[in-house]
Amino acid sequence: GPAPESSAEALKWLADRGGIAGHYINGKWGPLRDDFASYNPATGEKLAGVTKGTAAEIETAVAAARKAQPAWAKSGHKRARVLYAIARLMQKHARLLAVMETLDNGKPIRESRDIDVPLAIRHFYHHAGFAQLMKSELPNQEALGVCGQIIPWNFPLLMLAWKIAPALAMGNTVVLKPAEYTPLTAMVFADICTQAGVPPGVVNIVTGDGETGAALVAAEVDKIAFTGSTEVGRKIREATAGSGKALSLELGGKSPYIVFEDADIDSAVEGLVDAIWFNQGQVCCAGSRLLVQEGIAERFYTKLKARMDGLRIGDPLDKCIDVGAIVDPGQLDQITKMVSANTEGETYQVKAPEGCFYPPTLITGLSPASTLMQEEIFGPVLAATTFRTPSEAVEIANNTRYGLAASVWSENINLALDIAPKLAAGIVWVNGTNMMDAAAGFGGVRESGFGREGGWEGLAGYTKPSGTAKALKQIAA
Ligand code: NAD
Repeated sequence: GPAPESSAEALKWLADRGGIAGHYINGKWGPLRDDFASYNPATGEKLAGVTKGTAAEIETAVAAARKAQPAWAKSGHKRARVLYAIARLMQKHARLLAVMETLDNGKPIRESRDIDVPLAIRHFYHHAGFAQLMKSELPNQEALGVCGQIIPWNFPLLMLAWKIAPALAMGNTVVLKPAEYTPLTAMVFADICTQAGVPPGVVNIVTGDGETGAALVAAEVDKIAFTGSTEVGRKIREATAGSGKALSLELGGKSPYIVFEDADIDSAVEGLVDAIWFNQGQVCCAGSRLLVQEGIAERFYTKLKARMDGLRIGDPLDKCIDVGAIVDPGQLDQITKMVSANTEGETYQVKAPEGCFYPPTLITGLSPASTLMQEEIFGPVLAATTFRTPSEAVEIANNTRYGLAASVWSENINLALDIAPKLAAGIVWVNGTNMMDAAAGFGGVRESGFGREGGWEGLAGYTKPSGTAKALKQIAA
């Protein structure tokens, strides 16, 4: 077949739908309006018009989900069949999904093709199995009901999968709002739902911006699952307080990447390419704070800079590219402002093309209290400092309001296993980074949020003890 980097198929798919992304409610498309635009950040071209969902449209979607839920919760075997069909159809349309993701988000096609899309598919396969096993594995649990799900733009399809697959497996129905910059793979996914025989109302997608998201939070749903900024997460927590709605928040991070002097330096350098330059650093669990033990710092920085010089930055559709475009000029602006406001340390930057691109950047010699060591940049910028002793490493690592992930590099497994539990982080990787699996729970502590996605904890987050509704009614009577 044609090379995966060909965009003609994706553009035709969009043109066939009038070039507009809009709602998928009760198994049907619409309304579709050109309220605002989604751009290809690598070229600045308009890709599609996007419908801004109103509160009334959210209500229609929630009502459809409510109506469909009892029947959907009845048969785990039927849910498994449908979820397997979704996974297989995603495989069939993997190239369309990957190209669409890269066009809409700017991430390298190598990443959407080899990481985002396969992991999203894996999430549906994994949860299809659990749909079938729900009765035997979770005999005292039942579905929550209707779940409102709000996702960010950094992994549009993968975050959709993380939200929809477990919710559906456990017998819930959903209303999902994609991010305003990146609604397009959710549209392809909606088409796949129709083809897979998802009953009308089980999956509803409402496009829009923060106002649409706020309307979903206010609607009659049983749970809100949110991934995005800590600021919006806080607003949602306030808005749902006392409402009885279940809530999970997966928010920002400033994850430490700790390299001890006995680490395998080449592997640790290569790990950083993945930790901070994967997806242009727009990763909630990005290893954005480098902590290197003093004795090896200079040698480590030299090797790291040489590796940075080898990164290929440019057209995300080119399959040899390592670093693509930043999702939106507004985000680019934020990154630029944060880096230029910094007056500390030494900055090393490689060259990036003109346009919505930001060069991979290393800033060494920062004090742990500096803004760049404390605030999430959400771009390809690595903030670095040194430490002397393991206990100092732990102290600096934990000196943040966040706690999503951490990475520890040492050939001394005793040291690594001593450090790992002392780190305030939802997930700690030893001699690795960004390792995710549908079977492992993912989530944060502190201002990185709460609740887990994936694994047993993720399934539990979409259920409640069975008989709860009946018991509450009896108590009320
Ligand atoms: P955001 O939190 O503004 O948006 C995430 C989602 O929430 C989007 O779908 C958005 O439309 C929706 N939203 C916005 N305001 C809302 C509201 N009041 N009520 C309900 N929903 C609302 O994040 P962003 O604009 O995508 O990025 C801003 C910052 O968030 C980034 O710079 C980064 O620091 C952080 N971020 C974190 C993650 C993560 O995975 N943890 C992902 C993307 C962005």
